[in-house]
Amino acid sequence: MRAGLGCSRGLRQARPQRERFAAMTQTVRNVDDLRATIAGPVLGPADPGYDEARALWNGDIDRRPALIVRCGSAQEVAAAVGFGRERGLEIAVRGGGHAYSGTSVCDDGLMIDLSRMNAVTVDPAARIARVGGGATLADLDAATQAHGLAVTGGVISHTGVGGLTLGGGMGWLVGTLGLAVDNLLGAEVVLADGRIVHAGPLSEPDLFWGLRGGGGNFGVVTEFTFALHPIGPEIQLGLFFWDLDQGADALRFCRDFLPTLPQRSGVLIGAGLTAPAAPFVPESFQGVAGHALVVVGFGSAAEHAAMIEPVRHGVPPRFELVTPMPYVALQQMLDDAAPWGIRGYEKAVDLDELTDDVITVLVEAAATKTSPMSFIPIFRLSGAFCDTGPDETAFGGSRSAHYVCNLNAIAPDADALATDRDWVRRTWAALKPFASNTGSYVNFLVEADQDRVRASYGPATYDRLAAVKYRYDPENLFHRNANIQPRGGAR
Ligand SMILES: Cc1cc2nc3c(=O)[nH]c(=O)nc-3n(C[C@H](O)[C@H](O)[C@H](O)COP(=O)(O)OP(=O)(O)OC[C@H]3O[C@@H](n4cnc5c(N)ncnc54)[C@H](O)[C@@H]3O)c2cc1C
Repeated sequence: MRAGLGCSRGLRQARPQRERFAAMTQTVRNVDDLRATIAGPVLGPADPGYDEARALWNGDIDRRPALIVRCGSAQEVAAAVGFGRERGLEIAVRGGGHAYSGTSVCDDGLMIDLSRMNAVTVDPAARIARVGGGATLADLDAATQAHGLAVTGGVISHTGVGGLTLGGGMGWLVGTLGLAVDNLLGAEVVLADGRIVHAGPLSEPDLFWGLRGGGGNFGVVTEFTFALHPIGPEIQLGLFFWDLDQGADALRFCRDFLPTLPQRSGVLIGAGLTAPAAPFVPESFQGVAGHALVVVGFGSAAEHAAMIEPVRHGVPPRFELVTPMPYVALQQMLDDAAPWGIRGYEKAVDLDELTDDVITVLVEAAATKTSPMSFIPIFRLSGAFCDTGPDETAFGGSRSAHYVCNLNAIAPDADALATDRDWVRRTWAALKPFASNTGSYVNFLVEADQDRVRASYGPATYDRLAAVKYRYDPENLFHRNANIQPRGGAR
């Protein structure tokens, strides 16, 4: 039976082997004790700030935790984990609060909110960043770019480093530097039993492997350590737009063109993208749906010019934007396409190739979405992404060059979202026969049902993850994620 929050029963005595924070968890007998332990807010439904604290990026998620603990340190996270565990409360861990799935908030349980833990410390000589578990990509980029350094993030800057990294982390730099996890050097983790450990190649190596793709299954990461690389501060942008009539030809062109690009480039296809009312968009195309290709150069303007020249000779785009810009501006360029509080739903497939059959589905989908904000970002994973072996990290999916095709319904109200949620599901079903992995990227799983989680990782990686899960979280305390079911064995 679950004990309520107001229960006067104290915590069970911490076991002697629990490490540094056993003393602290012993004193957390009730909510008042918890409040005294946590320097930041501990919010219940009646407290000011509760509604803002439980809100996530996805405005379609409306869940009401019994308590929200805004932790400021690993020790406070350990105290909160202990408090929730001892009372049998469901625990949700919020990093950036950006997951479509809304797994970082729960009804009735305990929400551990890491958003105060957003410090980023850069050692420019060692080219290392230490990043708080609740930092956003904007926090990360601002601190690292101050030194002309960067690590792979995603394409929307208000995404959390936490969830993004633990699932893999792909963005403009994936071809140049690999995934975010490929650049992870270590992590500080609060485990289900309250211990605070460091995971790295030489310390808790199985945990370190699992963290690099296995999501939030193994504990709360309170600090990530990343290797950094010289990038920017100026990069070269090339954005090209074709209208719907050109769709099939444009996507076939992309299929042939993208594999010819050098490794030190970044690409994204935006199938079914509606052109914004931006100054660089000719008035006649503002609000018009079509297909976009973005090609980013991380070298000189001349190199980029040579790189993008074939686009103009392929299928002539209706308009283009070619310009140098700061790397941080690139990272924020799409922020307004998916603003905080909008409603969202997504479903993804991995595709080895953009075959004619796939392109037929994409062209049809682009013409049939209803919300102007809905679109299909297609990531190409190649170059440095392929330099890491399939067993070296727990990333779900192949390490050969392929595409991750992410069907996004994004809409301002529930009715419009419902319409395009159906559109996403129909399009996904039409792409499924051509998919190399129907589980796809775990960070794009909204309904993280076991079949798709297993498909995403494949049997060997899933089984290894299940054993690591059993060792570090045998009771599945951290289950609000693309869940790995603990599987018994030696612990
Ligand atoms: C508009 C949009 C654009 C996106 N673009 C990209 C992209 O370009 N590239 C890409 O790779 N992904 C992208 N994503 C997916 C994104 O990586 C995931 O949604 C990711 O989970 C977000 O992390 P978060 O910390 O903000 O999310 P949250 O909702 O806070 O957390 C998501 C999951 O991770 C867990 N978690 C978060 N932080 C921690 C932590 N510190 N320790 C333990 N568990 C933690 C949570 O418990 C939860 O299960 C995008 C998502 C959206 C909504």
